[in-house]
Amino acid sequence: MNIPDNPMGSCQCGNIRYRINASPHILYTCHCCDCQKQSSSAFGMSLIIDASALEFVAGETQLKFWDTQGGDGSLKRCAFCPNCGTRLYHTDDKGGEISIKAGSLDDTRWLQPIAHIWLRSSQPWLSFDHDSAHCFEQEPDNEEDLAQQWQQHTLNP
Ligand SMILES: [Zn+2]
Ligand SMILES: [Zn+2]
Repeated sequence: MNIPDNPMGSCQCGNIRYRINASPHILYTCHCCDCQKQSSSAFGMSLIIDASALEFVAGETQLKFWDTQGGDGSLKRCAFCPNCGTRLYHTDDKGGEISIKAGSLDDTRWLQPIAHIWLRSSQPWLSFDHDSAHCFEQEPDNEEDLAQQWQQHTLNP
């Protein structure tokens, strides 16, 4: 399925709504313990976009932030709706890219990850189709290469 133009998303209660105004870079799932805790589920889905591509169409002033550390010790800023608690995106202190928590998109049918990462800590009942996505025990070897593959499959199928 092709990526929709300017996909939109929201928190669960709908107070905060956003639109993505430029083509995303990559989509992957992360099975690290932080992503399991953050999502209260089996894994996180990260859609990486330019920070400048994220536009809020409702509720931006209601966003709340919680800061923590990424695996490499860098700042990770986590944005969420204080009303319903939905995590919407993460940024780091480099600031150029944003990781959208892709389950918050209105239409999730086009979301096809190019990689599953941190499988070292994935839930043991999950199995993976190695033909449709790359699998990594930890961090991917070359995220730039994965991003190019994802863009070819998703943006120009
Ligand atoms: Zn909400
Ligand atoms: Zn993770």
